[in-house]
Amino acid sequence: MFPRLLRCPVCDRPASGPDALCGGCGQTLAALLARCGPGAAVCPRCGKPGEAWYCAGCRERPPAFALARAAAPYSGPVQEAVLRLKFGRATWLADFLGPFLAGVVARGAFGPVDCLVPVPLHPARLRQRGFNQSLLLARSAGRWLGLPVAAGALRRVRATRSQVDLVAEERATNVRDAFAAAPGSVDGARVVLVDDVMTTGATLDAGARALLAAGAGQVYGLVVAGVEEYSA
Ligand SMILES: [Zn+2]
Ligand SMILES: [Zn+2]
Repeated sequence: MFPRLLRCPVCDRPASGPDALCGGCGQTLAALLARCGPGAAVCPRCGKPGEAWYCAGCRERPPAFALARAAAPYSGPVQEAVLRLKFGRATWLADFLGPFLAGVVARGAFGPVDCLVPVPLHPARLRQRGFNQSLLLARSAGRWLGLPVAAGALRRVRATRSQVDLVAEERATNVRDAFAAAPGSVDGARVVLVDDVMTTGATLDAGARALLAAGAGQVYGLVVAGVEEYSA
């Protein structure tokens, strides 16, 4: 019998137990979660971390979602886990990150909600990647919360270019009308729209618009990681 080698799911360094982070990642993660936790300085509307009051984006253009929250800032082991999930095909990390999403809903950040809806990928992107990380995250969070995941409620009807090198205004234009919601799929429901990362909130805003147009009662945004500062 060989002793089982236990590795940190985020950085692969030795860890103390199964599914346990290494000491360094564990400490940093706790500090990051606190920066988006109860009483933390985040934008009251979109949840962008590191903001003392309503952020510039929400002041200039109030989003369609009622509220959005991030579990943590996009930094350190959180950023590493999101990147490995998305681009390293480490799909098991969705089950590692899901509880952090669930925790935001469980502590009552939005009040009562009815279902989770993942931000969809365009079919071409889905074929290329093989999975939608937002769906995996929503499923994991849904299991912890006992909430259904309405996977097909929102569709991406237009391929959009990557948002990475776009400034705020371009991001909003890029995703405008990119989504459509199936009429009747979310009638009157209090929907939590789930994504991996929020930068300007343009994607959540466009998705929320489509869900509200299809009859959703209320839309909240929930992401693993919120980007603290956005600069062109
Ligand atoms: Zn680690
Ligand atoms: Zn804001």
